[in-house]
Amino acid sequence: MTTFSLRNVRLRTGEQFHQTVDVRLEPLMLGGQEYRPVPDEVPAELTITKATTGSVYQLSFRAELHGPCFRCLRDTVVEESVNAREYQATNPAGDEELESPYVLDDVLDLGAWARDALALGLPDKILHSPDCAGLCPVCGKDLNEEPHTHDELAADPRWAVLDELRGQL
Ligand SMILES: [Zn+2]
Ligand SMILES: [Zn+2]
Repeated sequence: MTTFSLRNVRLRTGEQFHQTVDVRLEPLMLGGQEYRPVPDEVPAELTITKATTGSVYQLSFRAELHGPCFRCLRDTVVEESVNAREYQATNPAGDEELESPYVLDDVLDLGAWARDALALGLPDKILHSPDCAGLCPVCGKDLNEEPHTHDELAADPRWAVLDELRGQL
């Protein structure tokens, strides 16, 4: 877990703090599959801006995730640019919207924040190519490599009626 101590960041209103921090990224689970960050540690730009009523935290980094294509399961690499933003009020008075879950006392939980921001930015379905044909639902072969259909489908009674009609023409 990568954390960042805010103890030494003392800002006045309008002042900004900037630092590059190495953040360790954890593997993400999506649809029961694991996506591994490569490398698993990336340099992230952390910016803290002190506003009148609180602090604005910004984190940006690039990450590359390796895991299976959602449809055909072949190894797929997803690149993502993350630009996350959090706000923490000086006196949130119990209002959750004014509090960041990643700021705890004087510690910023960069690991959890980076993981969540990365997960949020991912597409719903990770595909090796936008037009991936997937696996054949009948035999399980990769339809990208071997496009095919099965005769079993023609054995469907609805098709038999059509065949009969065709025979009459
Ligand atoms: Zn695919
Ligand atoms: Zn097949």
